[in-house]
Amino acid sequence: MKIVIVGGGTSGLVTAAIMQNYWGDSVNISLIYDPDNQSIGVGEGTTPSFIDVFNDTLGYTTEDAIRELDATIKLGVLFKNWIPNEEYYHGFGQVTCDSSEQQNDDLSDNYSAFHSLLNNTYNGGVNWNKANTLIPNKLTGYHYAFHITTDKLCNFLFDYLKDRVTLIPDVISRVTSDGKNIQSVTGKNTGNYHADLFVDASGFKSILLNELNPEWVDLSQHLPIDSAIPQLVNNNTGKIPTYTLSEATQNGWIWQIPTQERFGTGYLYSSQFTSDDEAKEDYNRWLNDNHGVQLESDRIIKWKTGHWKEAWIGNCVAVGLSGGFIEPLEALTHQYLTFMVETFVSINSTLKNLDYNRDRFNMVQNRIFFDYSQFLNLHYCTNRDDSPFWRHMTNNKTKWVRTMEQKCKHEFLDLFRNDDMLDYWGHDNYIQVMNGIHMFNKDAIKDFINSRFKNEDLMSESRKQYEFIELMKRKMSFVDHKSFLDELQLVEDEEYMMGKELETLKEPSTLPYI
Ligand SMILES: Cc1cc2nc3c(=O)[nH]c(=O)nc-3n(C[C@H](O)[C@H](O)[C@H](O)COP(=O)(O)OP(=O)(O)OC[C@H]3O[C@@H](n4cnc5c(N)ncnc54)[C@H](O)[C@@H]3O)c2cc1C
Repeated sequence: MKIVIVGGGTSGLVTAAIMQNYWGDSVNISLIYDPDNQSIGVGEGTTPSFIDVFNDTLGYTTEDAIRELDATIKLGVLFKNWIPNEEYYHGFGQVTCDSSEQQNDDLSDNYSAFHSLLNNTYNGGVNWNKANTLIPNKLTGYHYAFHITTDKLCNFLFDYLKDRVTLIPDVISRVTSDGKNIQSVTGKNTGNYHADLFVDASGFKSILLNELNPEWVDLSQHLPIDSAIPQLVNNNTGKIPTYTLSEATQNGWIWQIPTQERFGTGYLYSSQFTSDDEAKEDYNRWLNDNHGVQLESDRIIKWKTGHWKEAWIGNCVAVGLSGGFIEPLEALTHQYLTFMVETFVSINSTLKNLDYNRDRFNMVQNRIFFDYSQFLNLHYCTNRDDSPFWRHMTNNKTKWVRTMEQKCKHEFLDLFRNDDMLDYWGHDNYIQVMNGIHMFNKDAIKDFINSRFKNEDLMSESRKQYEFIELMKRKMSFVDHKSFLDELQLVEDEEYMMGKELETLKEPSTLPYI
């Protein structure tokens, strides 16, 4: 089977790696990319699913990522000023770790939370830490992700793919279709390409799928942010945070992502409520206050918030930014990409039965965007009214978020179990965000416990579990994140030097024998 992928950003490259890895020699993959415009160059936050791809699909280690991608360890996201002058943390670690035999089916995921939420002593789970600059001395068994340098990831993937797929630097100047299938794409310098399957990884332009009259699902009413100004700044603090900072402003929010030498930062705002010039002024002030630098970037990235109703039409599937995009709160796009590509290959293991599989794939795509958009909209459920942007967010909660807000006045989290539209997040995630924005009501939690369980047993079990978590945490040791990365680099340098010495030692063997 012949597959042509258009796009050499991370989406095209990761798709090529996953497909080649899965189908091996039964596919012949060509990847065409514009060599002067290789990637959008933002997207430095990941979630733990990225580690799976990096380890399992590509076969590399965390140390490789640290060395090759300038990666740092990410343990979560710190939300600052989403409620003015407050902050909360959304960590990857599990909220609870219920190893008790009395585990209750209804509550197994959020057992200790009863105790901690009622007593204002929320402590996450065993693998949960506050936002800081420390990492556990052993990462095994921990939920973590990376902060990466996108350009380095692209270079790394190009290198990985160079002997596995055909890489073609060229600009696609023409796409022909009969309205149902792509017939060919034409490179300016290299001519026509035909394929059984075309993958559109061309970024926001979706140059292939757009030829097949796709229908757009607009999500901008509930998530109106559609513009970003990115800028890199040096990290002169001597510390490397283990979290992404997401700081709300009057008109949007600012991200700050630490890689080894610098921070990737950027201001995200909605063009409905702020002009680009106002946004630049706000961002400039933030850069000045937080990093002592001026805004130098002229670049503004614009997008439409939403996704294609059918990202797979005929013989063309759109992945990554080509498939759809919503603001990068929680850094979900890599996760979305890998999930969708893995779904694609797993439901198409034989590459037959395409009509049925196409519907299934498109259904999954719709569900994932539904789920993501609900979860992201939940973050805005702060009832702020201090600017037109925040008033809009307060007045435009999704139906699901409004329902959730009402339910939390009377019930607790088992209600998630009844909502089969929401598969992609666990109780852990909801608890942390909802606790952070004060959605829980202690009386409602108590009423809920009283209505369904033997109150005393439950509370004592919940307390025990909470104490177990505290005990486990006291046993853990942490190291400074930066020192850990420096040390690793030092070991690598030493290994590199040893490698050099070995090479030198080997040299005589190349001398002619006499
Ligand atoms: C402001 C912002 C912040 C983000 N933050 C995060 C984050 O923290 N975490 C996260 O997971 N994601 C994030 N994302 C998303 C992330 O940037 C993308 O998912 C990722 O970079 C992959 O992009 P892509 O490969 O789909 O598209 P692109 O990087 O835009 O790549 C498109 C490719 O198509 C090629 N192309 C286009 N037209 C042609 C043509 N005519 N001929 C040949 N080739 C062509 C280009 O050469 C390029 O190689 C963010 C996005 C934005 C906008």
